[in-house]
Amino acid sequence: MSFVKRTELQMFDGRQIFYYDSAPVERNAIDLRPFEPRPLPGDMRQDVLTGEWIAIASHRQTRAFLPPKEFCPLCPTKTDFGTEVADSDFEVVVFENRSPSFSAPSAEQAPETIPALGRCEVVVFSDHHEGSFGSLDLVHMRTVLAAWIDRTREISKLPYVEQIFVFENRGEEVGVTLNHPHGQIYSYPFITPRTMKMLQVAQTHLDETGIPLLTSIIKREISDQVRIIAQNEHWVAYVPYAARYPYEIHVAPKVFVPDFAELSNDVADAFPEIAREVLLRLDGVFGIPMAYIAAWHQAPVRAGRDALGLHWQITSVRRAPGKLKYLAGSEAAMGAFIMDVKPEQSAEQLRNVQL
Ligand SMILES: [Zn+2]
Repeated sequence: MSFVKRTELQMFDGRQIFYYDSAPVERNAIDLRPFEPRPLPGDMRQDVLTGEWIAIASHRQTRAFLPPKEFCPLCPTKTDFGTEVADSDFEVVVFENRSPSFSAPSAEQAPETIPALGRCEVVVFSDHHEGSFGSLDLVHMRTVLAAWIDRTREISKLPYVEQIFVFENRGEEVGVTLNHPHGQIYSYPFITPRTMKMLQVAQTHLDETGIPLLTSIIKREISDQVRIIAQNEHWVAYVPYAARYPYEIHVAPKVFVPDFAELSNDVADAFPEIAREVLLRLDGVFGIPMAYIAAWHQAPVRAGRDALGLHWQITSVRRAPGKLKYLAGSEAAMGAFIMDVKPEQSAEQLRNVQL
């Protein structure tokens, strides 16, 4: 499966929307909502204690919070209520976030501030209001992946973007404000603190061994076996050796690639199968939909592209039915994680889920 059609249209306020279809569908629905100006970019402030950048996006206060289904902005438009998606059905759509944390340069920016340049997009996985990425069928998952690949390629061309972060939050426990199955793409004008740290470690490993760190990690996981959850010809899924969360799964291509833009069709085609299995296993642990953050790590646009490899980190905040792992004093204040489940034990639990 490699054929995915992209149709680009405009939204009522000038934002771009992209429809991705696995069949050659004609798309030309017009967004009939009355024009509204878009918010100006927020500004960036540097925390002088750590040197880290903070994006101040006060216009985000007014965004929708868990609206009822009939006012869901991510559903297709079927009534007088105009949603973000003008068409009456769709497979996968991507559009610019209405209240973005990072956005394109604007002439009206106040001169004394550092604008929070970048791009924030919403990826709507399906026109069905219920479900999540893991409940899509395999062809549909492949279309989502095609959208991630396409967006990474396109956003990489923006001169003010340094890092592209593709992710999905699932469950109100991790701050989801819209229940409709969707993910997001945050494109930052700087390299994020976590990636900066990963980059330093990966670069040192590459300098010392000549091998990308992720390649060495996968080799170790495959030889240790005990933390592996699933694998196929092109992908492997495992609980990392030093997991931070009770249910943490990493999924990586077996051959190093820096980012989505360089993922081959063969490897991409093998992804939906393992993605589905991993997410089913996660939900099977307690027999309830697991709240999680599914984060795609990829090399920055212009740095460390031979050192940092594309992989997917799924972390769940649930440790037992009715019990969440909160980031408490040590984790939140010091960044020092304490794990109460042995990673080998959690891998065994995930493997034992009957599919
Ligand atoms: Zn919806």
